[in-house]
Amino acid sequence: MRKYKPVELPLKGVPRQFQQQHATCPNCQDRHAGVIGRLGLRLVFRCEQCRVRFHRPTVSVQLL
Ligand SMILES: [Zn+2]
Repeated sequence: MRKYKPVELPLKGVPRQFQQQHATCPNCQDRHAGVIGRLGLRLVFRCEQCRVRFHRPTVSVQLL
């Protein structure tokens, strides 16, 4: 049996003010998904409940 390894894109760190943000998980609607990093201008969140990763565009260009 061949193991399938999902590709994990390297995440970049986010400034502290973004680390405090939370988003609603698209899978289970849990509202406590926290920021784990960013991809480009998108903040990457992870849901603690179902461990789904998802992203949201940042409203700021400060990351550039
Ligand atoms: Zn979830």
